[in-house]
Amino acid sequence: MIWSVKNWHKNHILEQEKIPDALWSKLIHMRCLKGLNQEELTRLREYATLFLHGKQIYGAHALEITPVMRVTIAIQACILILNLSLEYYENWIEVIVYPGDFLLDYEFTDHFGIVHHVRNAAVGEAWLSGPVILSWQEVENGEHTGHNVVIHELAHKIDMLHEGANGCPPLHTNMSARTWHRVFSTAYENFCRQVEQLQDTVIDPYAAENPAEFFAVLSEAFFESPLEIETHFPAVYEQLALFYRQDTAARWR
Ligand SMILES: [Zn+2]
Repeated sequence: MIWSVKNWHKNHILEQEKIPDALWSKLIHMRCLKGLNQEELTRLREYATLFLHGKQIYGAHALEITPVMRVTIAIQACILILNLSLEYYENWIEVIVYPGDFLLDYEFTDHFGIVHHVRNAAVGEAWLSGPVILSWQEVENGEHTGHNVVIHELAHKIDMLHEGANGCPPLHTNMSARTWHRVFSTAYENFCRQVEQLQDTVIDPYAAENPAEFFAVLSEAFFESPLEIETHFPAVYEQLALFYRQDTAARWR
């Protein structure tokens, strides 16, 4: 009974709040959707519609949120969970969009008991059980830079579902936590060494910050430049493909 009511409700939303054709066809050419087949695109459109129904997207600093902005964010958020489920995004509802960089202003106490006051310019932020915060300028720039701040922040959200942001999302039963940790730790250590030695890196050196950032930056690249990840981080690529249940590199070939 509950299932059928839920299903009826879902179908009602999909009908009533369907993303308009013109808007949809304008937005499906983004990099991270490259190579998706018709069935996948249809499912993505449904997920994006349900995502928009369930989330509240606000503009900060008087930014007006247009339908293009809403649908762009929803599509990029849903590409991550295309073969998982919307349940991965269930424990939060707000997306706050700033026109450009925004200032993070917070305090934390270190293990010596000293309180630090941090003020940083940021382009994205994800809070545990709280909002996702994005810079619209960064979302727009992404099409040229290969960065994807939406994918990055939503990867943090997924990572946080298992023991907080530590670079290990809730793995599926056909995956091994041991393999995941071995593969990611080895890749992370090598990567940090490269960054320390100021070598050119395939992904943003910011990924050396901590294992959570490493996972988020690699998730971005898994969707935005999968062939490079497959070539330079083959073991990591394999784990990401198992987790997201997508073979993005195959779509690009
Ligand atoms: Zn991050």
